[in-house]
Amino acid sequence: MKSLPDVDMVLFGGTGDLAMRKLLPALYQQVKTGTLSTASRILAAARKPLDRAGFLALAEATCRPFLGDAFDAETWAAFAERVHYFPMDAVQAESYGPLAEALGQHPERVRVFYYSTSPDFFAAMSANLGAAGLITTQSRVVVEKPLGHDLHSSREINDAVGQHFTERQIFRIDHYLGKEPVQNLLALRFGNVLFEPLWRREWVQDVQITVAEQLGVEGRGDFYEGTGALRDMLQNHLLQLLCIVAMEPPTSSDPDAVRDEKLKVLRSLKPFRPQDVATKTVRGQYKAGAVASQPVIGYAEEAGVAPDSRTETFVAVKAEIDTWRWAGVPFFLRSGKRMPEKLAEIVVNFRPVPHPIFGEAHHTNRANRLIIRMQPDESMRLYLEAKQPGDAMALHPVNLNLDFAESFKARRLEAYERLLLDAMRGKLTLFVRRDEQEAAWRWVEPILDSWAANEDRPKFYTAGSWGPAASSALLSRDGLAWNEED
Ligand code: NAP
Repeated sequence: MKSLPDVDMVLFGGTGDLAMRKLLPALYQQVKTGTLSTASRILAAARKPLDRAGFLALAEATCRPFLGDAFDAETWAAFAERVHYFPMDAVQAESYGPLAEALGQHPERVRVFYYSTSPDFFAAMSANLGAAGLITTQSRVVVEKPLGHDLHSSREINDAVGQHFTERQIFRIDHYLGKEPVQNLLALRFGNVLFEPLWRREWVQDVQITVAEQLGVEGRGDFYEGTGALRDMLQNHLLQLLCIVAMEPPTSSDPDAVRDEKLKVLRSLKPFRPQDVATKTVRGQYKAGAVASQPVIGYAEEAGVAPDSRTETFVAVKAEIDTWRWAGVPFFLRSGKRMPEKLAEIVVNFRPVPHPIFGEAHHTNRANRLIIRMQPDESMRLYLEAKQPGDAMALHPVNLNLDFAESFKARRLEAYERLLLDAMRGKLTLFVRRDEQEAAWRWVEPILDSWAANEDRPKFYTAGSWGPAASSALLSRDGLAWNEED
């Protein structure tokens, strides 16, 4: 792997869950692979009153389970040498002194400010960094979701950050774009001629994108009450995945060439009229049930949740793209909590053969489909009909593994690792541009407005099921079924 220039990575929210589970382990891996230079520094900041040794002890104890076999004492010691800790309140301008002093030692370096805190602080952090003169031309900022809860609030945050950083310095992270199978889908589509002629309405019947979690709200009911599945998952991750599937071939892998094509998809999404929301969207809320054979309580019983809450923990939507390529092809998107499995996948269902010469009996719905799986495992499989060995002409679905993990022995990068590397290199291709984000909000807002105006509660589903029955009905109205029901 190519090494990086010397970097100062400033991690606001350095003691938080995301930093401990993903960001610090990703940086550790870059030390292990020799990508992060010895001179580079990781400057973690949070309010917790710790000294450097205290922070490192906390980081080692917390990160270690997430590093698994990758942990070794020697690499940790090399990693720890690069780590510094700044107890500070990021909202208070006067607490920036020690951080400014440390950064001032290397004004020429690439600086990456990673905002791993609540977005409520993004405006103040940007203003404070600006006022302290810490934003150089070599500086970048990485911002985490959620960037607002609607178009208006996302604009406010973008305006506030944009007062101090140019658009080319702002890296809006969507970690699904950093996942290996998503990269591989781009390689499959744009590195080969084979799929491109088939990648259109004539040959594709429907596309299904699922991100399902077994987890509930994990004690964060009060946060989730103001969010819900549509804002938390669909507006960002699911729509970004849809863009990767549906976009036209970009002219190059240049960030704006790719992001222009994604934006065109978002702008081509058929807008929802109020009467469409009832037939093309489903919102659900889990009630008590069992997940992985363990009994779990319903959402309305969770701490911090109103007993009559109308927050959706499940969303399914039929999206349509008004272009020559995709007219008439439904894209079904769904995401939910307390589902039977942790699953993230894209299913591209090709049309059945127009005339089955081997007889109907031999045809199943499980062939002619491409499945790109991001969780629980990472894979890309093309399911085709093949002849079963023997004297009868009997067909059976088999899959071609297009992932080639066996062919390439190199270690796979975690999504956050790849995206952090890209941010340090200044490569914006896998980050979301402001106009994309706003187009996504513009498309989902009529759904949110319509739901808010409707007094009905979301449809209940039993924890451990695939969502309310209305989710199956969403597809059956088109004579289709979700992948697991086929
Ligand atoms: P978290 O566990 O609550 O951590 C928040 C961090 O911010 C802590 O380090 C906290 O440390 C620090 N902090 C809070 N107020 C501060 C202040 N005034 N000045 C300086 N530091 C302050 O949250 P998280 O789960 O890590 O999430 C961080 C952000 O990423 C959130 O916006 C979240 O929505 C987003 N996100 C998280 C995940 C995830 O997997 N966790 C995934 C996607 C997006 P002190 O209390 O010590 O100050």
